[in-house]
Amino acid sequence: MPGSRIKRRVGVFGGTFDPVHNGHLAIADAVRSELDLEKVLFVVAADQWLRANPPQASARDRLRMVELAVENIPGFETSDVDIVRGGSTFTADTLVDLRGRLGETVELYLIVGADSALAMDRWKRAEEISALARIVVVGRPGLVFENETLDDTHPARGAMYVEGPMVDVSATDIRGLLQSTGSISGLVADSVEDYINTNGFYG
Ligand code: ATP
Repeated sequence: MPGSRIKRRVGVFGGTFDPVHNGHLAIADAVRSELDLEKVLFVVAADQWLRANPPQASARDRLRMVELAVENIPGFETSDVDIVRGGSTFTADTLVDLRGRLGETVELYLIVGADSALAMDRWKRAEEISALARIVVVGRPGLVFENETLDDTHPARGAMYVEGPMVDVSATDIRGLLQSTGSISGLVADSVEDYINTNGFYG
């Protein structure tokens, strides 16, 4: 068709990543293959010190850990767009800024775990998201995501669903293991484990 173009598909995977773990890497990989994404951008949330449970590692350290985790994985990249903007991170802003950086020739796919997707009705300006990106929900152990059971106005109501690898790990588990001198081997990339140990995070 004259004038039409196949758009490049880019995944946008936002998170606190405090720290990034193998569950994050596994779900990004599953969505990338399932939807044939050119790449997945891991977008690290800014520091939000006013929140009840602020991140323990700084935004720069969380970004560094994600850089280490993805550096040898083709198709995975990091983005500092939320850190550069600063303040509280709202995904609508993330998507607008990424659109500005990437231009009109990409289609954005927002990747969210089932727990985050179910909470999207409490996100600020979530109603703007459907005009900015397709939402892709990924299964998380212990949670049932059935978008037809959601309210019509729920932001994740029309989302795509990818079951994914169902890896039962969270950043909370990892911080807990480090507090209780448990091992986090196999739960995070070796380079991330080294960075955590060298800097004494979460101890
Ligand atoms: P915390 O335990 O500190 O809340 P987390 O492990 O949920 O952290 P986040 O950085 O808050 O990690 O999550 C970023 C995104 O990744 C969210 O959309 C979340 O739902 C998703 N996610 C994290 N871990 C998993 C997992 N094991 N399976 C599916 N989705 C996940």
